[in-house]
Amino acid sequence: MPFVVVITGIPGVGKSTITKLALQRTRAKFRVVNFGDIMFEEAVKAKLVTHRDEMRKLSLKVQRELQLKAAQRILEISREEPVLLDTHATIKTPLGYMLGFPKEVIEVINPKFIVIIEATPSEILGRRLRDLKRDRDVETEEQIQRHQDLNRAAAISYAMHSNALIKIIENHEDKGLEEAVNELVKILDLAVEEDA
Ligand code: AMP
Ligand code: MG
Repeated sequence: MPFVVVITGIPGVGKSTITKLALQRTRAKFRVVNFGDIMFEEAVKAKLVTHRDEMRKLSLKVQRELQLKAAQRILEISREEPVLLDTHATIKTPLGYMLGFPKEVIEVINPKFIVIIEATPSEILGRRLRDLKRDRDVETEEQIQRHQDLNRAAAISYAMHSNALIKIIENHEDKGLEEAVNELVKILDLAVEEDA
């Protein structure tokens, strides 16, 4: 059976860092798949972009086609081994927020868990400023808060169309990272046990 745990969190929250550390510690064998990587491969193949941060500025129609293609490839991978899917609950496009998992996509992926990594807006702002590799949007703390609120709402709608449980994990400065990683490890171990 395909087995997917979705991990979301707005850009700069520390999602990829937590995922990497959790994977070193979990007993469960997961393959980490980055939704953006797969979409980017498809977008480059179609000669649509040269940088991953250009994708969210493509036309909505094109983004949705790429999204569905990526979802189908991810489904194939999840038939072979459990997948920990690093992605976004919503994507901030120039026109508005786009769902990371519209109905046809959440039905394809059908995750067991939707994990939401959160931090305070000021922590996220600080982390974005320190990440020079990415072309992050410049946002205020209010905008970051609103995006996180929307992501919780989006997760509820995804749970409506799958069997997913929702788990919120906080990643705060100082000791927060350690705790966040422990929480994710616990979920991954349990999720696999439950599935066995
Ligand atoms: P990331 O590296 O996780 O920030 O993802 C890079 C880009 O991939 C995002 O800015 C989006 O354009 C795209 N992306 C990632 N996940 C999804 C998704 N579930 N639906 C649509 N686009 C996505
Ligand atoms: Mg990331």
